[in-house]
Amino acid sequence: MNAETLISTYFQTGSLPDLPADHFIDGAFVAPVNGARMESFDPGRGRVFADFARGDAEDVDRAVESAVRGFEIWRRRTPAERCRVLNDISCILRANADLLAVVESLDSGKSLAEAQGDVAGSARLFEYYAGAADKLDGRSVNLGGDSAAFTVREPVGVTAHIVPWNYPTSTLVRGIAPALAAGCSAVIKPAETTPFTALLIARLLVEAGLPAGVVNVVTGTGSEVGAPLVADPRVRHVTFTGSVATGVNVMRTVAPNVTGLTLELGGKSPLIAFEDADPEAVADGALWAIFSNAGQICSAGSRLLIQRSLRDKVLPLLVEKARAIRIGHGLQGPDMGAINSEAHLNKIAGFVDRARQRSVRILCGGNVTTDPANGEGWFFEPTILDGLAPDDEAVTQEIFGPVLVVQDFETEADAVALANGTDFALSAGIYTRDIGRALRMARAVDAGQVTVNDYWAGGIELPFGGNRKSGFGREKGLEGLDAYTRAKAITLAA
Ligand code: NAD
Repeated sequence: MNAETLISTYFQTGSLPDLPADHFIDGAFVAPVNGARMESFDPGRGRVFADFARGDAEDVDRAVESAVRGFEIWRRRTPAERCRVLNDISCILRANADLLAVVESLDSGKSLAEAQGDVAGSARLFEYYAGAADKLDGRSVNLGGDSAAFTVREPVGVTAHIVPWNYPTSTLVRGIAPALAAGCSAVIKPAETTPFTALLIARLLVEAGLPAGVVNVVTGTGSEVGAPLVADPRVRHVTFTGSVATGVNVMRTVAPNVTGLTLELGGKSPLIAFEDADPEAVADGALWAIFSNAGQICSAGSRLLIQRSLRDKVLPLLVEKARAIRIGHGLQGPDMGAINSEAHLNKIAGFVDRARQRSVRILCGGNVTTDPANGEGWFFEPTILDGLAPDDEAVTQEIFGPVLVVQDFETEADAVALANGTDFALSAGIYTRDIGRALRMARAVDAGQVTVNDYWAGGIELPFGGNRKSGFGREKGLEGLDAYTRAKAITLAA
């Protein structure tokens, strides 16, 4: 079925046909041992559209057992075979892009266009790592004399992937594509509100030729599925994407097993605009940086740091553009979709309500709302807050919604101090025509990725990750392979 047919089926029936509803273990869908189920909501309507397995430690045990067997098969495949299978996976994702994008949009609340971009990027990730699978060479080391020494890169083993709800497909794929290229196997735990694309992708991987057991998916809650998965000593690397609090918890859990860990956590990233920047470009950049995916992005540009002399040229433009954003159900072509869950919507509203009580200036938005077409769903207006102290909770904490805070600065040194003034260090954008200043700022700002005169430029080929409380480790790019391989030194004495 193409996207149009799927969408009309959904609006006629309230669900989609043939959605997978069970765990995916050892190449097949299997019911949870305990028989428990949970519901998934369409955030655009605030209604249940399907249910799925609510797993527990017994299901996790079966999935890890399957991944241990899968690893023994997959690690023995030649790099050239792994390359071919990953390329075939990329093709099968493209062939099923309509289905994946519609399901992703429905489950997460994001617009279909954004979901289509996520699926296309995920196919590209497999293509990129297919190209790396047969190039994971070691090096020959000259120790002198007649001895010989070289290194080999070996896969780390079974890997666990804990996935959040804001980018269910792309976060999952940026972890498993390099893991598979390296020869690892995987057990995936999708977020409890967005399980379906992971299950669909797992089935497609097997259809594309990945041996059964190499990738497994167990759905359910963080405490019932995520916790036993990361605690399992057979798991040799955990790739966790989510909140700081849970990330710290996961760190504690993996410590006794000395399991490898990548943490992709939150952010409060600055977009820094200097007086020589083009006001229109700054307003468009800020809009894109905070209102994409309704601000539910770890690397969202959630703070606009603006040089005082530029304020009056940018803020009126920005407010006008923010007010023009069309909110609506993800499958009906809005500029901005829904908030993923009612609980998260309340959290965003709490931040803004408390700011209102502190008499923070609200330049636009500030309210919970619904789809203007029918009064349904979980939405929040595009919101801009101004006049906040550097230690205000709306400045220091991740709101993870369509809420931009504006901070003024006078000098370059002030801009650096504000930019680095939170516990997070994930991304940054710098707008200036002065190349010297751009380079100084790019070095001075603590972040995993910095973009000049744009936001989120680059992509799959560049490493992505954070510093400080935004986490550690890098995904994407060739650096994304490092977590999934380890070097072994082999020396032959003469
Ligand atoms: P969360 O921490 O609540 O949940 C993330 C995942 O962890 C979910 O799958 C959840 O079920 C699981 N989980 C919960 N408790 C667990 C436990 N004890 N052991 C193992 N797994 C457990 O985060 P969220 O609310 O789903 O996601 C939003 C957060 O994710 C934001 O803070 C955002 O910044 C962050 N995020 C970061 C990146 C990045 O690349 N840095 C990308 C996307 C999201």
